[in-house]
Amino acid sequence: MTANSTTSPDFGDALNETPCVSVLLPLPLGKAYTYAVPEGLSPTESLAVGDFVAVPLGVREVSGVVWDGEVDDVPPEKLKSVLAKLDVPPMPESSRRFAEWVANYNMASLGSVLKMLMSVPEALKPPKPVTAYSLNSNLPEIKMTKARERVLKVLQDSPPLPATLLAKEAGVGTSVIKGLAKLDALIAVELPPPPAFEIADWQAPGPTLSAEQAVAADNLRAHVKAGEFAVSVLEGVPGSGKTEVYLEAVSEALAQGKQALVLLPEIALGAQWLARFKDRFGCLPAEWHSDLTQATRRKTWRAVATGEAKVIVGARSALFLPYTDLGVIIIDEEHDQSFKQEDGVIYNARDMAVVRANLGEIPISLVSATPSLESLRNVERGRYEHFDLPDRHAGAELPEISIIDMRQDKPDTGKWLSPKLIQGLKDTFAAGEQALLFLNRRGYAPLTLCQGCGHRFQCPQCTAWLVEHRFLGRLQCHHCGYQMKPPEKCPSCDQTDKLYACGPGVERLAEEVEELFPEMRTEIAVSDNLHTPGQAQELVSQIENRDIDLIIGTQIVAKGYHFPYLTLVGVVDADVGLTGGDIRALERTYQLLYQVAGRAGRAERPGRVLVQTHDPENPVMQALKMGDHKGFIATMSEDRERNGMPPFGRLASVILSGSDERAVDQATANLARTAPRDNGVMTLGPAPAPLALLRGRHRRRFLVKAGRDVNIQARIRSWLKATELPRKVRVQLDIDPYSFM
Ligand code: ADP
Ligand code: ZN
Repeated sequence: MTANSTTSPDFGDALNETPCVSVLLPLPLGKAYTYAVPEGLSPTESLAVGDFVAVPLGVREVSGVVWDGEVDDVPPEKLKSVLAKLDVPPMPESSRRFAEWVANYNMASLGSVLKMLMSVPEALKPPKPVTAYSLNSNLPEIKMTKARERVLKVLQDSPPLPATLLAKEAGVGTSVIKGLAKLDALIAVELPPPPAFEIADWQAPGPTLSAEQAVAADNLRAHVKAGEFAVSVLEGVPGSGKTEVYLEAVSEALAQGKQALVLLPEIALGAQWLARFKDRFGCLPAEWHSDLTQATRRKTWRAVATGEAKVIVGARSALFLPYTDLGVIIIDEEHDQSFKQEDGVIYNARDMAVVRANLGEIPISLVSATPSLESLRNVERGRYEHFDLPDRHAGAELPEISIIDMRQDKPDTGKWLSPKLIQGLKDTFAAGEQALLFLNRRGYAPLTLCQGCGHRFQCPQCTAWLVEHRFLGRLQCHHCGYQMKPPEKCPSCDQTDKLYACGPGVERLAEEVEELFPEMRTEIAVSDNLHTPGQAQELVSQIENRDIDLIIGTQIVAKGYHFPYLTLVGVVDADVGLTGGDIRALERTYQLLYQVAGRAGRAERPGRVLVQTHDPENPVMQALKMGDHKGFIATMSEDRERNGMPPFGRLASVILSGSDERAVDQATANLARTAPRDNGVMTLGPAPAPLALLRGRHRRRFLVKAGRDVNIQARIRSWLKATELPRKVRVQLDIDPYSFM
């Protein structure tokens, strides 16, 4: 059979052959399968590339997509037929090319990527029509009751109503409605399902932009209008109006009848963002994140496919919704690590979004107060445009950042707040204002040890200490969720009352604050107690209404909020996260602390930030103090360039894991012998991963490093292909790794 064109499926080149198509299935398979197209396929006769279809697979029926490319020569007796074409708009070319690109670049199977694009299989079926009831004009004789009378009365001058609504209006139970329908007093009619999303009013005017804001907004609008690929970095201090600027691009996409995608980290906490969107456009956008009900996921996926949902705001997986006509992509907080997906298909949503924009010929804007080194490097190379919003809107002042040297300004023994920070809190409370203490450690204490024998409580399944959660009365592993009750006696030496909590977590800090300021209303904000947007919204309103004086939180509170009365931010331990073999450790710490600092004094009240550190000379602390992001990035950049690290070189990590340690070691040794180590490629390792044991699996890692001109995927592919590995050893590939654990 011959290779076919890209737009029509391959029906075979001989007339007497059965017409066939390639169907890609959302399963971890590298290629599409061949199926016959039965005559008179219902409900539509013809199949085209991109169509969603149902096909048999073994004894199952699965859904897939008709894919471009050659069909295989399948012997007639083995050839199975497509069962049906599904009633859902076809997957456009840009999405199909995107899937291939993502699979190829991230070294994942094409089917696994398709699975991300088909994340809601139920959405392939059209929504059920709604059954509503109207009055039978030819009313049969029935026994009247008060309840029945009320129902008939409601319907007298009303359009048909669904049972629940009708019951509510009439103040009766739904059984009354059903009874009336059975007696033919009511007639059931089918209504089309109600619209899934409201239409945003793109003409609603935004604020009058400042000159700098207007330059950035006009540029984005022009690219959206022209339908051309362009990447811009929109950099600006918190409160400088970045959101206002990119909402202009969203409005332009809507004006063009196109869809707009805004990716945000931690969407669960986007309550303020949503409210703002509603203020501007008169309705809520479609949301996409892990915390949606199945019904909402189904509704949203389908509305994106039909083009009914115009603005989608979501976490990284929103990139894989079936857009029919995407007009612009915005990545807010583009530096944020949560855009990197760390399991399943490992990918970086920010980077893949740029690819998606390229394939769809649309602009993308990368928005941040602290853009990543990678993005700034692309600006330097002239590949990305750059817009700077240097000032806070309406001249609001940036907080003043002071560094507290903990070696000199020591807290009391067993305490974590320095006298300077305590004084800062006192002053803030005295002024009737609010404070935030930031500590990126959940729980009470990160480590528990026995003072008698030195025994440390470790997770039996992971290379990790158990974190004490005192409120829950548990020792917990933050990697696998293993937990136990803290024992009375040390399991190693049997002594009682010797267990000692080392180091602070947010709970312990709360205890210290409670002693210092018993009358202040304190709230802990951590992922453990903020699961849903509702809980987050509750906390936000409490802070806004000033029902809380002090928030103690992890990075969950670092993102994008405005609290006008929050004027002091205390960073309890700025050194968390500075160490470890992570090439982005300093950059990430800087970004996080800068972002936390941005919570202080956003309105007319100027804010203060006090940063506690044992390492005041560290470039992170210096840059924070001086407010010198550019200088800091330049230093980090030099460092990475010298070491040939991304974005100056390429990097990939290869992790072997399995529950059988000997098998993993054996496989690792086999691979080590053939590891690529020439023609611009270097392989570091193998070495036990820092998390050498994770969820009971032993882990060994290689780090493959190469020059920018090397096709690192191709090299890794041929390396892995040449060595047979036992099935019980899993290989995980991570291109451009962000996690070095
Ligand atoms: P960022 O996204 O950079 O943090 P925002 O877009 O959230 O900044 O702007 C901060 C605040 O200033 C918001 O309340 C926003 O509505 C307001 N703002 C920004 N630009 C303007 C403008 N040109 N006119 C009126 N208000 C503005
Ligand atoms: Zn564990």
